Amino acid sequence: MAYDFDLFVIGAGSGGVRAGRFAAGFGARVAVAESRYLGGTCVNVGCVPKKFLVYGAHYAEDFEQAKSFGWTSGEPGFNWSTLIANKDKQIHHLNGIYRNLLVNSGVTLLEGHAKLTGPNQVSINGQTYSAEHILIATGGWPQMPDIPGREHAINSNEAFFLKELPKRIVVVGGGYIAVEFASIFHGLGADTTLMYRGELFLRGFDGSVRTHLHEELTKRGMKVRFNSNIERIEKLADGTLQAHLEDGSSLNTDCVFYATGRRPMLDNLGLETVDVKLNKDGFVDVDENYQTSEPSILAIGDVIGRVQLTPVALAEGMAVARRLFQPDQYRPVDYSHIPTAVFSLPNIGTVGLSEEEARKAGHEVQIFESRFRPMKLTLTDNQERTLMKLVVDATTDKVLGCHMVGPDAGEIVQSLAIALKAGATKRIFDDTIGVHPTLAEEFVTMRTPVAPKQA
Ligand code: FAD
Ligand code: NDP
Repeated sequence: MAYDFDLFVIGAGSGGVRAGRFAAGFGARVAVAESRYLGGTCVNVGCVPKKFLVYGAHYAEDFEQAKSFGWTSGEPGFNWSTLIANKDKQIHHLNGIYRNLLVNSGVTLLEGHAKLTGPNQVSINGQTYSAEHILIATGGWPQMPDIPGREHAINSNEAFFLKELPKRIVVVGGGYIAVEFASIFHGLGADTTLMYRGELFLRGFDGSVRTHLHEELTKRGMKVRFNSNIERIEKLADGTLQAHLEDGSSLNTDCVFYATGRRPMLDNLGLETVDVKLNKDGFVDVDENYQTSEPSILAIGDVIGRVQLTPVALAEGMAVARRLFQPDQYRPVDYSHIPTAVFSLPNIGTVGLSEEEARKAGHEVQIFESRFRPMKLTLTDNQERTLMKLVVDATTDKVLGCHMVGPDAGEIVQSLAIALKAGATKRIFDDTIGVHPTLAEEFVTMRTPVAPKQA
């Protein structure tokens, strides 16, 4: 049967654009549909604008520290509208770049909401197209608990477009988005409370990283409340939001920001017309080839809920394009040793196993850990400390995990990920000459394991 397209991609986000333009580059006839914004979450309401806000928030400490290096200037002032306008201008520019990337690679770009109408059919803007393969790359969407007054709260999509910087803000959640945005708002001068329902935030990260970040955020003056959750939100006559907590207390604020995870974006996608099964968490279920239970339909990225990171969506998009249209270049995605950063202030960078994961997996571990004041801060009053940690298999000497909390942790951990992927042992770390004076050299100079924890 002759189809209109070899591949129809729904969603021009990180994964969809990568799959679409590489498939077109391999000679396939490709359509990409996008309903909202070219570049998807990462470019519009995710990684990119978030990093601009983090850079913005970082200036507060730069101004403060500059005094100790001899700089004098007037009292620094901050204008939220300028930061948001400049951010919007750059995102608009990136949207154009994404358009050119797609169109110049020969993709047919269709702007509108795409809906499945059968295993090989998609309808968009009143037209129906047939395709041999359909790729669902529709990403995710913020989810909030269904509490009374939730309409008064915002999520990350809205945070990027606030008209003003709130004077007081409560950020609910203990994952990436919550700690990043709490750092942004706190750095920009808002009275910030980070509220997490559990004992300690960043579940799944190494224990030392979690406690160290907690100490550093508290040192900076952020209010961090654990074992705490909002039951309902009330809007008072003067516009103040009153958050009533589960323990019976209440908290007045100007903004409540929920960062409580993301659900797959499957709204009005026409799934009822096809046999695409979802997993127990509601994400699209796929096999190792990203194929759904409907053989002609594939899915990648956040919508499959495996690892919700842009580089992972890119790798999955690439794998799909290669497997379908350039099989001799196909390599499956290797999900081991995915490095990741949390752009809190200070940053977290991590790759490989946490100490807890390593022990649980049965490794006998040696832990190397260093906490120190970065050289730059020794001229200042700032008491921030950096954490670096190596988790090593005591039997094989292999480095299982590298963890850091401190300046540029993401930048440093990216290179360490290559070493871990190559199977580096602690001996190889020890034999590596450091770059002096840097923070990163600490990763190759830690010699004495910390004493094993008493059971
Ligand atoms: P998306 O990028 O979400 O793209 C999906 C696209 O599909 C969207 O453009 C959507 O409009 C479109 N779409 C949906 N339904 C339809 C339809 N029916 N028809 C047509 N189009 C449709 N990851 C990192 O690696 N580093 C970070 O620093 C980072 N920061 C983040 C910060 C925030 C606040 C958030 C929310 C996420 C962040 N992420 C980060 C995660 C990252 O953004 C996602 O993992 C990534 O964007 C997933 O790509 P995707 O292609 O699966 O989906
Ligand atoms: P996460 O899944 O990382 O964290 C969600 C947090 O919300 C958890 O602490 C969870 O608690 C808490 N939570 C969930 N439900 C409730 C509830 N009903 N009431 C109170 N708290 C609740 O999600 P995020 O929204 O932070 O981010 C989504 C994903 O986006 C991330 O997992 C990450 O993959 C990606 N991302 C990546 C970034 C990066 O690379 N720097 C930055 C931002 C996002 P508990 O732990 O108890 O379940």
